[in-house]
Amino acid sequence: MSTPSTPVFRFAPSPNGELHLGHALSALLNAEWAEHSGGRFLLRIEDIDLARCTTEYEQGIYDDLAWLGIDWERPPRRQSEHFAEYKAVLDRLIADGLVYPAFMSRGEIRAFISEHETPKKRWPRDPDGVPHYPGVDRELSARERRRRIASGEPYAWRLDVAAALARISTTLAWSELLGQYSDNPERVEAHPEQWGDVVLARKDVPTSYHLSVVVDDAAQKITHVVRGRDLYYATAIQRLLQEILGYPAPLYFHHHLVEGPDGRKLSKSEKDTGLRRLREGGATPADIRRMVGLG
Ligand code: GLU
Repeated sequence: MSTPSTPVFRFAPSPNGELHLGHALSALLNAEWAEHSGGRFLLRIEDIDLARCTTEYEQGIYDDLAWLGIDWERPPRRQSEHFAEYKAVLDRLIADGLVYPAFMSRGEIRAFISEHETPKKRWPRDPDGVPHYPGVDRELSARERRRRIASGEPYAWRLDVAAALARISTTLAWSELLGQYSDNPERVEAHPEQWGDVVLARKDVPTSYHLSVVVDDAAQKITHVVRGRDLYYATAIQRLLQEILGYPAPLYFHHHLVEGPDGRKLSKSEKDTGLRRLREGGATPADIRRMVGLG
């Protein structure tokens, strides 16, 4: 059991591929920080993408963590067992008018943008370089939305970022810790509008990465979110969701990314940096620590 002052850490991989060196760094930082601070270390299996996640990859996560000498509280939280919770939160956002059904297909989005983008006025892109959703259907009447949903058109629920920002009274920010074991955060202003109206759920899946992460971090009372730098800017959307849902804000630490031999970001398809492959090739857990810069 945790008291209000017990730090709670989590490692939250998706079982849609094999863990690589970047995951090892995240898992080790979290587990060691939890131990160092007398806190808890939780494992969360982020398997909402039922088409890409498999129980074999999930087993691989357990095997790799055990091999690294990491222990986690049983049972881990598996997101696929919590769709009803995400749906309940989504329903709150629908009732509050903070999400809208977005009907444009990828092709329609592309066509709309190329029609509206000019050499002088570039269409806005998110921090990952993806063009913002045009948001025309934000303006649809309730009646028109009902009609299109009833006619079976596919859609996604998108967050109305401007409406959500208008609901909160403070300037949105997060606390970024300065390193492992630090309790000295710096305040980072959050700009969720950089992302445009992100997808929070799909017609057939009542959640998305952002929604389930925020719901789970609150449900698991996570105090420290320690994860890769690639999710630094995503924190802005997650802080906005926490504010409008009345959830507490964890502390954040976004660690360096482990680079592949060619200096590029690691991916789950690059087998030479996969933990299982390295283990089978004779690497030891101590080698892995060195390879991720943990001396
Ligand atoms: N499931 C995400 C991933 O594997 C991590 C989510 C998070 O740490 O917030 O990249």
